[in-house]
Amino acid sequence: MQDKRPDLSYILNHLGEDREKYYNAVSPPIIQSSNFAFPTLDAFREAFADEVHQHIYTRGNNPTTEILRKKIAALEYAEDALVFSSGSGAISSAILAFLKAGDHVVCVQSPYSWTKNLLLEYLPRFDISHTFVDARDPANVEAAMRPNTRVLFLESPNSMTFEMQDLEACAAIARKHGAVSMIDNSHATPLYQNPIKLGINLSIHTGTKYLNGHSDVVMGAICGSAEHIRHIFHSETMTRGNILSPHDAFLTLKGLRTLELRVQRSHDSGLIVAKYLEQHPKIEKVLHPWLPSFPQYELARKQMRGAGGLFSIYLKTTDIEAVERFFHRLKTFLLAVSWGGHESLALPAVAFYKVKGKADSPQPVNLVRIYVGMEDPQYLIDDLEQALEAL
Ligand SMILES: *Cc1c(COP(=O)(O)O)cnc(C)c1O
Repeated sequence: MQDKRPDLSYILNHLGEDREKYYNAVSPPIIQSSNFAFPTLDAFREAFADEVHQHIYTRGNNPTTEILRKKIAALEYAEDALVFSSGSGAISSAILAFLKAGDHVVCVQSPYSWTKNLLLEYLPRFDISHTFVDARDPANVEAAMRPNTRVLFLESPNSMTFEMQDLEACAAIARKHGAVSMIDNSHATPLYQNPIKLGINLSIHTGTKYLNGHSDVVMGAICGSAEHIRHIFHSETMTRGNILSPHDAFLTLKGLRTLELRVQRSHDSGLIVAKYLEQHPKIEKVLHPWLPSFPQYELARKQMRGAGGLFSIYLKTTDIEAVERFFHRLKTFLLAVSWGGHESLALPAVAFYKVKGKADSPQPVNLVRIYVGMEDPQYLIDDLEQALEAL
């Protein structure tokens, strides 16, 4: 862990940018090259001693991508970071890097769907078992740890119902049992939560959401100690090659310039919209970690500095057709998956009902996930107001 983080403004505007190497360009160039030549055999040999950081071949490292790695590592108080072609690519790489046949993973009850799939469907093929635990109580985590538990996987808050874990307590449990602790920290972003400072080994992100923030890149990142990152680099990045392209690294760098502005705007507007909905007679309940009504409000205030613009609501109805009417009247919220971009979104649980060839979602019909983007909150509230009349 890095005890201190450089100023956020320095990280977002300057850190990692060696402008003299590229004509003092203010915007970093996209070094669209697969490989890099060396002036001498000695220099070539020297580079092979540190493939994680040298520019040899773009599957390993690339100058544009490296700027992004340095900024994301600094944001998370980490010694180093790796970036991937998706958040799921980062999550699976972090988990796989520390497992072998016979090992066991302890994971939160409701992680991101493809994290769940990795543990349920993929890892059993390699004789790796798992236990899902209600990790809102650290005692359940402690009870689930076995002698062969190598990984403790957290997600706090998660991105649908926002269950949280006490990160300091969970990190201590993993340490005691010799397991690597890791967290999907996508929801809070490094702006609002820094798990490594609380003792967690690896902080993982989907950069598709807030880090890039413009709905035009799919990417992921892992932040951790130099030793852990080197291990993941050699075991996963170089073998499976799920890397971020220099062009997408460039786009993410461009997105990061406004990280603070966007996430703060989304948090502020999200809270205004959530408070409006909480007092609305046609809303049963709002789940938002920054509202006093949130079941783990105290914990949110203890380990986070904000909560972004993602939250869930329960409409006051059990009638699927009423929910559908509400959606058909919404104009400003796009009906879509994902979140963290400029555009506000609504994702209803009923989108996972009546899907051909699939069982209905276990989520209740009246659950709707809302993401508040960059729009004026009043513009969004006006739209919600007219759509709620259809309920
Ligand atoms: C979207 C998401 C992921 C997966 O990220 P991709 O970039 O889509 O692969 C993982 N975790 C959370 C919380 C997410 O919202």
